Amino acid sequence: MDATTTPKAQVATVKLLIGGQFVESKTSEWRDIVNPATQEVLARVPFATEDEVNAAVASAKEAFKTWRKTPIGARSRVFLKYQQLIRENMSELAAILTAEQGKTLPDAEGDVFRGLEVVEHAAGIGNLQLGELANNVANGVDTYSVLQPLGVCAGITPFNFPAMIPLWMFPMAIACGNTFVLKPSEQDPMVTMRLCELALEAGIPPGVLNVVHGGESVVNAICDHQDIKAISFVGSTKVGTLVYNRASLAGKRVQCMMGAKNHAIVMPDANKEQTLNALAGAAFGAAGQRCMAVSVAVLVGEARNWVPDLVAKAKTLKVGAGVDKGVDVGPLVSCAAHDRVSGFIDRGVSEGATLALDGRKPTVPGYEKGNFVGPTIFADVKPGMSIYEQEIFGPVLCLVGAEHIDEAIELINANPNGNGTAIFTQSGAAARKFQEDIDVGQVGINVPIPVPVPMFSFTGSRASKLGDLGPYGKQVVLFYTQTKTVTQRWFDDSTVSHGVNTTISL
Ligand code: NAD
Repeated sequence: MDATTTPKAQVATVKLLIGGQFVESKTSEWRDIVNPATQEVLARVPFATEDEVNAAVASAKEAFKTWRKTPIGARSRVFLKYQQLIRENMSELAAILTAEQGKTLPDAEGDVFRGLEVVEHAAGIGNLQLGELANNVANGVDTYSVLQPLGVCAGITPFNFPAMIPLWMFPMAIACGNTFVLKPSEQDPMVTMRLCELALEAGIPPGVLNVVHGGESVVNAICDHQDIKAISFVGSTKVGTLVYNRASLAGKRVQCMMGAKNHAIVMPDANKEQTLNALAGAAFGAAGQRCMAVSVAVLVGEARNWVPDLVAKAKTLKVGAGVDKGVDVGPLVSCAAHDRVSGFIDRGVSEGATLALDGRKPTVPGYEKGNFVGPTIFADVKPGMSIYEQEIFGPVLCLVGAEHIDEAIELINANPNGNGTAIFTQSGAAARKFQEDIDVGQVGINVPIPVPVPMFSFTGSRASKLGDLGPYGKQVVLFYTQTKTVTQRWFDDSTVSHGVNTTISL
């Protein structure tokens, strides 16, 4: 971790948000936030102290006393206002995001927009947080359930969607009547903080939303804290598994959305031009730093001959700084990410895969220090190679061949990850077989990145997810609430019972 101990006076500092105030951390541990296209230091982020984490949780606990009783309509109207403010500030939010994360400006707007959709969904909480009622379950007896907020909830988010993923979490949790402590990625927390400022402007009361920054020790403090009732985590499988185990042991609800190795099946009857476009966009967009990026294409039958066409398509993409017009592939988030991805490409070559397109060391005039890796394609990839087995999280597409659809499905189901997948075909029968037999959370049929819209929930299978309920959609209302079931009887003269009943009946 490249944290240092002294804040540089001339560089802005990212604040904590505690009790409705943006406050300077008293920590001695800071980390630079660096523009990945230029290496310019944009700001410094603190690694919060234990006292600061405790203060954030205490403020959320206090605010819960009143927020939990705030009428559903009042909660809903905060998010109606919030979605408006996000729209009005879209360009500024995208610019901050591109500067600290690297993705192109249109893609940064997409990052904000996919989060905005969840805010719109949160504004409809009146239709989502509904219980059930059964009339006359026994003579004069009704049973109904209410979905009540849990208390203080927390969110831990990754670097790759610094707008969308925080917005998956705190709007729905707060709309349900909870209060929240957010721990954004320490690599790019600035757009997240701007979104939090807008949330306060929209009317989220002091203490209802709090933010602490940091890494492992802050996350561990959140997992252990007795006043936190539920944790949403999005990030790598390694860290998510640690968080799930530690926080579950401390008695919390936990949902962890984790790593991926997303395969797309290309059937020989697929529309070739559309499929090549979809694969190139899904493999190389955001420099491959999407949990739903397609990182393996399984070419079935005659589609195995499409490698040169795919290479030609990938070569049309422009590598450059996210702020520049016409750029398709921005830099990787950090020098460490650049070195890791380049190392994978070296290993792919030494392990015997065919490097059909080499994206190492692209020329990007004016941005010589940027963390750029261009679109890279490996053909003849086999299970067992490290480029196949591990999540590269860069613009590297592995091509695997298969004789028929059954072999392709078997390969995907044998991979430990089950985040996203897609099939490209014009056959309804092949698409339906795929839908039925594939063991993956998000399934696309001629859709390369099938991230669900907010009326559904994001999901995941096998090693890509721990916990049963997913973020946003209907499932998250259950995640962020406690079901209370009430059975009631009111006596009048006709229903008064006589004598003691010692049986189990109502
Ligand atoms: P990461 O796991 O390194 O970090 C995620 C969060 O955990 C960050 O807030 C970080 O500060 C914290 N953290 C890091 N190391 C920790 C440790 N040792 N102990 C406790 N906390 C720690 O993930 P990342 O690199 O920021 O994001 C990329 C990963 O996230 C990829 O694996 C990607 O597939 C995954 N991801 C998954 C989804 C999904 O919905 N399934 C979405 C986006 C990203």
